[in-house]
Amino acid sequence: MKRIVVLGGGISGYGSAILAKKEGFDVFLSDRGKIADRYKAKLEEWGVPYEEGSHDEERILAADEVIKSPGIPDTAPIVKQIRERGIPVISEMEFAGRYMGAARCICITGSNGKTTTTSLIYKIMCDAGMNVALGGNIGESFAYSVATGQYDWYVLELSSFQLDGMFRFGAHIGVLMNITPDHLDRYDHCFQNYVDSKMRITQNQTAADFFIYSGDDPVIRGELKKYALASHQLPFTATEAATAEGGHLAGSTCEVQLGDNRLQLDTERMQIKGLHNCYNAMAAALATLAAGVPADEVERSIYTFLPVEHRLEPVKEADGVLWINDSKATNVDSVWYALESMTRPVVWIAGGTDKGNDYEPLKQFAREKVHTLVCMGLDNAKLVRDFTGVVPTVVSTASLDEAMQAARQAARRGDVVLLSPACASFDLFKNYENRGELFKQWVAEHV
Ligand code: ADP
Repeated sequence: MKRIVVLGGGISGYGSAILAKKEGFDVFLSDRGKIADRYKAKLEEWGVPYEEGSHDEERILAADEVIKSPGIPDTAPIVKQIRERGIPVISEMEFAGRYMGAARCICITGSNGKTTTTSLIYKIMCDAGMNVALGGNIGESFAYSVATGQYDWYVLELSSFQLDGMFRFGAHIGVLMNITPDHLDRYDHCFQNYVDSKMRITQNQTAADFFIYSGDDPVIRGELKKYALASHQLPFTATEAATAEGGHLAGSTCEVQLGDNRLQLDTERMQIKGLHNCYNAMAAALATLAAGVPADEVERSIYTFLPVEHRLEPVKEADGVLWINDSKATNVDSVWYALESMTRPVVWIAGGTDKGNDYEPLKQFAREKVHTLVCMGLDNAKLVRDFTGVVPTVVSTASLDEAMQAARQAARRGDVVLLSPACASFDLFKNYENRGELFKQWVAEHV
């Protein structure tokens, strides 16, 4: 019997282990850290042996194939040993893709906009009454859904780490939102390595498949010159010329065309705001038209889609001040789009763990729209230095409470207070969700 080892006991790992068990493999799951009780309960229910707190090397190195969870870097000693032995290392997607039968999948990747676009596509398909599961970086584990459900469609949010372990898998509908520098610590600090990883979204696609991508993204455009893709290509653009098929933003209308199917989105009627959300909406419209959802149903679903939590999420309007939680904006590019979308004067709360940020691209919007920057972090020196002289007032604070008080004091009637940090949250918070939740809690209690 083929021996499968699953590395990592999080949402991706436990789902893979259960699918492997269901398919009759000799499976073992190993996690060097702790496994959450709910996943342990599932593993026990399915009779999957596992260990936590250490790696049994002998047992792991006897595997025929290893399914590695996306959070485990290639530099982990156990992964190096596995590779030295020549044991194939694959991702959850690669494994589960083998067992999805006649179901079809829409896979979404990019540096920013994945969760929003994936959630929107999923909503449109649910509203249209399709039999669809959500997975990848959000929702249930893809492998677990394959093991326990019967779906016609899977909508999967893919990080570059999941793409790295995919070899035979091909997306029926692949969506690439953008490529900007992120996670370079996991790619030998080489941008091209990260780009190559993102471009794997196109691998194994045939003429029957669709590839939907940003026609405005210079990195993607450059990459496409190197590839001879067989798939049906559908770009979406705001700054480039419209193509016969694809999406195009003209004024305040997104025009989307696929074959004879055509739809128009009035951006004023959308609940998600800003140029970036026009891209997300066009990508989602193209993907769902390609999946066979009627154009009028796509339109209707997009108009009723609300921002996903922590992504430009309006929290409260009080005394003429709107408080917006964009805690998920952990890199410079996502803050660029947040500032781009602001139509009122801004008190901007930023800062945290700097990932080697270059703030230059933000300065023009900061100059035009921000009157007060509240820096919130244990080390604000770089932010203060970069924005002094760009923004009239720069305040340095070292806790959420201090930052919020400073923001409240600075905000005038008609302003927005925007939490859009451009940094990771680990200096003061558990994660970006915790940061966003505490922001909302403070607003609920004090505003
Ligand atoms: P991801 O899952 O790729 O991190 P999200 O949808 O969670 O993407 O959004 C993350 C951050 O990026 C949010 O702050 C959001 O405002 C911003 N954002 C969303 N869509 C885009 C886009 N298409 N381009 C750039 N930034 C975006």
